[in-house]
Amino acid sequence: MLDFKLVQDQQQDLPREGVVQEEDQVYDMIIIGGAPAGFTAAIYAGRAALKTLVLTGPLLGGQVATTQMVENFPGFPEGINGAELAQRMHSQAERFGAHIVTASATGVDFSTSPLTVQSHSATYRGRTVIIATGAFPRRLGVPGEAKFFGRGVSTCATCDGFFYKDKRAVVVGGGDSAIDEGLFLTRFAREVVVVHRRDQLRATKVYQERAFANPKMRFAWDSVVEEILGEQTVTGVRVRNVKSGETSVIEADGVFVYVGMIPGTKLFDSQVELDEQGYVVTDRRQHTSVPGVFAAGDVQSPDFRQVVVAAGTGAIAAKEAEKFLVEHPDMA
Ligand code: NAP
Repeated sequence: MLDFKLVQDQQQDLPREGVVQEEDQVYDMIIIGGAPAGFTAAIYAGRAALKTLVLTGPLLGGQVATTQMVENFPGFPEGINGAELAQRMHSQAERFGAHIVTASATGVDFSTSPLTVQSHSATYRGRTVIIATGAFPRRLGVPGEAKFFGRGVSTCATCDGFFYKDKRAVVVGGGDSAIDEGLFLTRFAREVVVVHRRDQLRATKVYQERAFANPKMRFAWDSVVEEILGEQTVTGVRVRNVKSGETSVIEADGVFVYVGMIPGTKLFDSQVELDEQGYVVTDRRQHTSVPGVFAAGDVQSPDFRQVVVAAGTGAIAAKEAEKFLVEHPDMA
């Protein structure tokens, strides 16, 4: 099963005997993050003939790669599988010459010129950097969650739904992710109970209509999960009704948590300005607080989180970085 926290923390490019090699070349643009924002930036950079490096991070495609069907990306009237969309963007970036490395950035120094980005096995230098590291699912932080994470608790129905054939699942949250992924789970599970802290969903109307029409979906309104129960395996969740204060147990074999996202900015907190929620602060042209460093996609916006928006901001960031390079020919 896929554990996003682990995936975020795991480094795929393990050190070879502890050797860190410095690349001789200086890239025009280093893009940190291989998901819609990063790949779109790479497509634009490649077409501008910029020497471009993409460090994909551990999960190629980011959040969209865990989405079963993307129905709102223009040009795909029948929808497209998220992983396939990400793979197509990867191929398109490669076609225009981006050097794509399956590695995670482990450190950055934006006080140097050129800017430096490290992975476990190499140090890269770039005249500009685009931060496109996305956002990751938030955890509930209740007892039982850590114990069962990856073996009964998940943040990815697309990855783990298959294991719930004819079983009962609880989905926590009321946003697009909860409902979209909950609907996906109904293909396998015999029952999906959505536990939501209010009595109205936040999810888009079209998802709401589908959820309310789905005979396998049930709702526990005004309820919060207090504990995930079980000895060897998950057996259910203890929920508290926030209006009545009453607690009850919902029996379940698995729990899928969709209670929002946290930005992937651990590397950047002393390097660029972050807002109080930890998102990278950018202006309307995707400039961060550091000249030559730009940000795009979910890492700089908690508001929209749409593939098309990530792609759009990726394109703007690349265009602005290109302009920056023209205006700063003296950059190493
Ligand atoms: P979200 O919109 O922030 O929704 C999070 C949900 O979790 C909300 O219903 C929230 O309740 C609930 N929640 C937050 N903290 C909680 C806690 N501690 N305990 C219990 N419940 C809690 O996050 P999301 O659903 O992951 O969506 C993120 C963004 O991605 C959105 O912009 C969404 O439109 C986008 N997205 C789009 C698609 C699509 O278009 N196909 C699919 C997935 C996601 P409240 O409602 O009470 O705040």
